[in-house]
Amino acid sequence: GWRSRAVYKLIELNERDRFLRPGMTVVDLGAAPGGWTQYAAQVVGSNGHVFALDLLPMDQFADTTVLQGDFTEDAVLHELEAALGESEVDLVLSDMAPNMSGVDSVDIPRSMYLAELALDFCDRMLKPKGAFVTKLFQGEGFDEYVKETRQRFDRVVVRKPKASRPRSREVYLVATGKRVR
Ligand code: SAM
Repeated sequence: GWRSRAVYKLIELNERDRFLRPGMTVVDLGAAPGGWTQYAAQVVGSNGHVFALDLLPMDQFADTTVLQGDFTEDAVLHELEAALGESEVDLVLSDMAPNMSGVDSVDIPRSMYLAELALDFCDRMLKPKGAFVTKLFQGEGFDEYVKETRQRFDRVVVRKPKASRPRSREVYLVATGKRVR
């Protein structure tokens, strides 16, 4: 079975936008307990590889590298970049979310910060034409973030998967065709 119900969101997004393909190298940020990693590893197969990172410990799967650490820390970022080595990253996934306090003025900026860092990571590590899929909460900074992403990718769409609770402000941004800048 799947490690998380979150996997149904990724499956739905991928069935619509087809960003995962066999042979890809994928980075999965905020990966625990591992549903997205599991599905991505299954699609990329043995010619591909998934690098998964989370604050929390998680189990290893075939064709995956699992790292534990805080993505906001430079040391952890360097560790991830070292693990990637010379691999060309085809796709960056981020389902990272802070521990929700329930207070929008706290939760939205925190999650926006994680999404910004993931976008910066794409700038440095994602190959030209590569794709980026991130969780994002609607609220302060949302429109600017979408605009910023549109400058860096050829195509950006905002999706609300059926598997995402209708009342949550959570949506997913699917960005494809990273531009060379
Ligand atoms: N996609 C995952 C799955 O299918 O199992 C579920 C991800 S869950 C919604 C969000 C994850 O983001 C949590 O496991 C949390 O620990 C992680 N996270 C939050 N902040 C993080 C950070 N600064 N660095 C790394 N992971 C982080």
